[in-house]
Amino acid sequence: MIPETRAALRKLASGVSVLTFRDGERAHGATVSSVSAVSREPLLLAVCLGLTSRFAELVGSPGARFGVNVLSAAQAPLASWFADPRRPLGLQQFDCVDWLPDGFSGAPLIDGSLARMGCEVRSATAAGDHYLLVAEVITGAPGDGLPLLSFAGQLHDGDLRSLPERQAHPYATEEEAVTTGVAR
Ligand SMILES: Cc1cc2nc3c(=O)[nH]c(=O)nc-3n(C[C@H](O)[C@H](O)[C@H](O)COP(=O)(O)OP(=O)(O)OC[C@H]3O[C@@H](n4cnc5c(N)ncnc54)[C@H](O)[C@@H]3O)c2cc1C
Repeated sequence: MIPETRAALRKLASGVSVLTFRDGERAHGATVSSVSAVSREPLLLAVCLGLTSRFAELVGSPGARFGVNVLSAAQAPLASWFADPRRPLGLQQFDCVDWLPDGFSGAPLIDGSLARMGCEVRSATAAGDHYLLVAEVITGAPGDGLPLLSFAGQLHDGDLRSLPERQAHPYATEEEAVTTGVAR
């Protein structure tokens, strides 16, 4: 049985990305759900990778460059493929997708991704049984589609329903209520 504390953490819904690396014939991809935005200026993201991960071995030091492919709901099979320890090594891993090299990092950027980024590692620190990488986003291009989400140990298509803008909430001040029409 999953301990309550871990079960609680699994209630954090998160996007799913495939991190990619390429240096000549050396190439690798890995599925992660731990990518998160950290800073706007400079533009930084963070990602956590297992201490024994091959991907962390390739990019786990400052200055290393890699790509981030934020997966769309239509790309769910890629999440499983790049998490499968039996996937082939090297560029062969990418035979099942169309991709182009990122202009900055050279890493494979996968067609149809919801967003594609090229990053440079700024710091790598051990955090428990993972490395916490902080990287600067140097190149980026948003795509179209709905996100693939990881929630409670399962993948979900992010069929998002927007909430009405500026719903009434208990924290609106009198002034805000007047200027925005939000009732207190
Ligand atoms: C939706 C989803 C989200 C995920 N999110 C994350 C995440 O945020 N962070 C994360 O780290 N992982 C995450 N994973 C798991 C990750 O995708 C897989 O573990 C993937 O294989 C990692 O690739 P890698 O190159 O980092 O490690 P790999 O080299 O593929 O190794 C994966 C694991 O296999 C074991 N292993 C590899 N080679 C050997 C060997 N020779 N001998 C013994 N053991 C070995 C190691 O324990 C290693 O950690 C996620 C998976 C899914 C499906």
